[in-house]
Amino acid sequence: MPLIVQKYGGSSVADAGRIRHVAQRVAAAKSAGNQVVVVVSAMGDTTDDLIDLAKQITDQPSPREMDLLLSTGETISMTLMSMALHGLDCDAISLSGAQAGIRTDTLFSRARILSIDPTRVRQELGDGKVVIVAGFQGINEDQDVTTLGRGGSDTTAVALACALTADECQIFTDVTGIYTADPRVAPEARKLKDISYEEMLEMATLGARVMHPRSVELGSVYGMPIRVASSFGSEPGTLIHEVSSMEARNKVRGIAHDLDVAKITIVGVPDRPGIAATIFAPLAAAGLSVDTIVQNAGREKFADLTFTLSKTDLPRAMKLVQGIAKDINARDCISDSDLGKVSIVGTGIQNAPGYAARMFETLFKERINIEMITTSEIRITCVVAENRVADAVRALHRAFELEQPED
Ligand code: ASP
Ligand code: MG
Repeated sequence: MPLIVQKYGGSSVADAGRIRHVAQRVAAAKSAGNQVVVVVSAMGDTTDDLIDLAKQITDQPSPREMDLLLSTGETISMTLMSMALHGLDCDAISLSGAQAGIRTDTLFSRARILSIDPTRVRQELGDGKVVIVAGFQGINEDQDVTTLGRGGSDTTAVALACALTADECQIFTDVTGIYTADPRVAPEARKLKDISYEEMLEMATLGARVMHPRSVELGSVYGMPIRVASSFGSEPGTLIHEVSSMEARNKVRGIAHDLDVAKITIVGVPDRPGIAATIFAPLAAAGLSVDTIVQNAGREKFADLTFTLSKTDLPRAMKLVQGIAKDINARDCISDSDLGKVSIVGTGIQNAPGYAARMFETLFKERINIEMITTSEIRITCVVAENRVADAVRALHRAFELEQPED
């Protein structure tokens, strides 16, 4: 009998009516002859509301209590889902992360799953039940409840699917699939029938915030097919899997963008060994993650060094960098917080001639200035002014003919 894991996000279980609607879909999947495991998120904005509530009590909540508090959101939705299934005469049982055997490390609020013991889930499935598992939570070696980081229910679902060697993991959300670009920016964006893990990872990390990137990584490691679809309709959605066909390679599949980009330039950096380490080690130690780094060729023993980071990290990073710049006798440091980035994404495009040129030419025709360029095996990214990102996405979508259906 096929085994599927279905995950329903917060908007899909936002109220009693939605929970009943989802229960019908789950019962239908069971009646169609599948074993079904369901992972649920907290109802609607419950997690945000719980965080607000804790803030009204204290501005420094204990991480342990906070995780236990947040885990209650998923406890509510899993029990109600189980009751809704009982109401449809469908045998079901809800299990907390701990009861489902999800063991994590001890880092509260961003725990990682270490292992899953699927014994109990298997046993309940064997008894003919639908098993509902609370997303986003697990238990650590001290028997304390942990949470996996915001959006972590996706990771619960994919990890469970892998541990159970399920046939497919289905992520039901409020979008109908993965699009060639964000449809709010490029209305002509088209839903993709399928996408490779690595392409999805780029799309997910670069702003198409449909899935928790860690869940896509996990799916890729275990080769678990993941289908993303809407719980509000019955369209087939997008399948994330290992795309093996040669034809699917070397093609631009989508345009990703990100509005959260700032940059810092250190001007007149003495050009000698060890300088880059001197600059970036303190940033790393402060937990500031740096993205694109560009150092221009040194002229007369001085170079300029530019890097990008998230806008929220800019003030903290700037303070640190100003101190460092003084220490190493750099001439100046300047920052810009009105940036964004736009990428063309597709497996193997770095090796396909002409894409970079077409991208730059397209931006040039739109009179969009490129501030920085980076490439990887599967994407080419340009940093541009924040207020031109939307124009860039639309122009590139047209230039690479992404509105044309693939067959
Ligand atoms: N309820 C958690 C959150 O809102 C986990 C999730 O939805 O995946 O972040
Ligand atoms: Mg949520």
